[in-house]
Amino acid sequence: MEACIVNSLRSGEKAVCVRGGKFGQRWAQICESFGVVPVNLDLEWGAAIDPECIAGVLEAAPDIRAVCVQLCETSTATVTDVEAIGKLTRDTDTLLIVDGVSSVGALVFEMDKWGVDLVAVGSQKALMMPPGLAIVAASPKAVKAIQVNQPPSYYLNLQTAKKAADGDSTPYTPAISLVAGLLRSLRAIKEEGIENVWARHATLGKAMRAGVRALGLELLSSAPADCVTAIKLPDGLDAEMLLRKIEQDYGVKFAGGQEHLKGKIIRVSTMGYSGLFDVIIALSALEMALSEAGRTLDLGCAVRAAEQVFLAR
Ligand SMILES: *Cc1c(COP(=O)(O)O)cnc(C)c1O
Repeated sequence: MEACIVNSLRSGEKAVCVRGGKFGQRWAQICESFGVVPVNLDLEWGAAIDPECIAGVLEAAPDIRAVCVQLCETSTATVTDVEAIGKLTRDTDTLLIVDGVSSVGALVFEMDKWGVDLVAVGSQKALMMPPGLAIVAASPKAVKAIQVNQPPSYYLNLQTAKKAADGDSTPYTPAISLVAGLLRSLRAIKEEGIENVWARHATLGKAMRAGVRALGLELLSSAPADCVTAIKLPDGLDAEMLLRKIEQDYGVKFAGGQEHLKGKIIRVSTMGYSGLFDVIIALSALEMALSEAGRTLDLGCAVRAAEQVFLAR
């Protein structure tokens, strides 16, 4: 994410940062660290940005050089309509910069078709790898902007990286073992077919949400992503206790909320090598833990709702 900012923007330039959660905040923090001026669009956590709102900001301030968004804002499990935002930036000098860390390899993402200029991806989420590698892709428009820039970074200089990549190399010693691993996971994705990978995630997300609703629980997000689901907990339910129970008693790992959502939501992933039975197991553990926490529910209802989604596929 830092490589995207420091290579394409200069100190004093403005970038729209959509702040609908933890990772949107990070775009703004990175910008501030390098003197890039964030124009923050703050959303209630769980809400998705209305592209019209970005259109208005771009119209009012034509000197804005970039729009920074998350394809999936993982802290709230919300998906952004990147395609619609791309229609606003593609025939302008404004760059569209996307954080695809939890979503590329899980959610539909058409970099060229949508006019995305820079995307950052991590090895550790939908790409099914240990942490340690970050991948940045740039459009011709972004490459042009990068080539006339002097980034305030040595290691993250993308001109140096591109020059080395053009000769099938890297500027410095890369994490070879992770690159070898990434080759394997990308081959697995290619073998399944990216469209099939997207469809699988869509089904898993849909089944997870159906199960959650069957339990009478609400989703946090108004635009829920298929790779992660954020579940609002009813008042009076101790989130820490619930998370501990799910993990220790049932061996399933849910995540909690971040910042002000800590204790208010739990999150569960369906990204990467997740399959049907990961959803079934997660919902089953959630049902039992909720039941033990004293919530009245029809045991099996969430699992049944998920199975119905799978059978209707
Ligand atoms: C996980 C993630 C990152 C990387 O964050 P870390 O603090 O390195 O875990 C960045 N953006 C998004 C959207 C993510 O989900």
